[in-house]
Amino acid sequence: MIKNVNKIGVLTSGGDSPGMNACIRAVIRTGIHNGKEMFGIMRGYTGMVEDDIIAMESRSVANIIQRGGTILKTSRCMEFFEPEGRKKAYENLKKHGIDGLIIIGGDGSFRGAQIFSKEYDIPCIGLPGTIDKDIAGTDFTIGFDTAVNTAVEAIDKIRDTAEAHDRLFVIEVMGRDAGYIALHSGIATGAENILIPERKTEIENIIAQLAEKERRQKLVNLIVVAEGEEFGGGNEVAKFIKARLPLLEIRVCILGHIQRGGAPSCMDRLIASRMGYHAVESLVEGRHNVFVGIVNNKINYIPLDEAIKKKQRISEEWLKIVKILAT
Ligand code: ADP
Repeated sequence: MIKNVNKIGVLTSGGDSPGMNACIRAVIRTGIHNGKEMFGIMRGYTGMVEDDIIAMESRSVANIIQRGGTILKTSRCMEFFEPEGRKKAYENLKKHGIDGLIIIGGDGSFRGAQIFSKEYDIPCIGLPGTIDKDIAGTDFTIGFDTAVNTAVEAIDKIRDTAEAHDRLFVIEVMGRDAGYIALHSGIATGAENILIPERKTEIENIIAQLAEKERRQKLVNLIVVAEGEEFGGGNEVAKFIKARLPLLEIRVCILGHIQRGGAPSCMDRLIASRMGYHAVESLVEGRHNVFVGIVNNKINYIPLDEAIKKKQRISEEWLKIVKILAT
């Protein structure tokens, strides 16, 4: 039986990503188009637990499609890990009559939604909002394209100065558990080495390559490192290389939070709009407790139960390409 949903709450949770605003806009406007009452829940699950919930109209999401961050704000909510916190959250939703939830966030937020939807009779739809692109079942996540383009722009600039001085640069990009930003930005900027958490760092090969370059006095070399790489990120990799090749001049650049901010790319605005629209349509049609992804340009619905078990894998094809093109 299809459970009729009349009042829908939307929230952004966990790490923020560019395009979340475009997604909120799509959700609110599609909901209103379907005759639903729409609510914004502030600061992720914290707003549910603390009853920080506001009614939203079409106008509430005007002029935000181009803005980074999230107008609903986001947070990590410790209370939501506990049954008492989730009970409070449920009671607050009931108070407002909210009977459907749309959660824009990463795999942690999906885990929260999955547990909540099992305990309480509130259908939940997830939307993958994360710069890490580490969620299986979708070719895109909202924010990845913008983040990786920010990284590419920065690395291109570093390449200019590296070339001018014939210098070795170690550049750290975001990705504690996932190497997608490092992999994509590294390939797109022609980095000589790309180090990611999913693969063992072949440091001896890198040292041998650098020793050879040192001998030829051709030292321009960019090493793009994901934060969660085996050695523990850019500083650690640089330290290790310096200890082995003390004459090398190494510069480290940690790109950090600039990768999260900024205006979303056209691609992120489009996928955020498309996914947001389908999230509401799903709730209305009675497809519950799934997240909305895109695979081969088609909308893909993955049960939250499954989503939290799998991680997006790094493609072997890309790894092969990196090896051939970077030599
Ligand atoms: P992301 O969604 O970006 O992966 P987090 O992993 O920090 O971010 O998760 C966001 C929030 O989701 C957490 O702060 C918590 O409120 C909720 N959450 C995550 N895992 C669980 C869980 N196992 N049980 C209940 N809530 C959870």
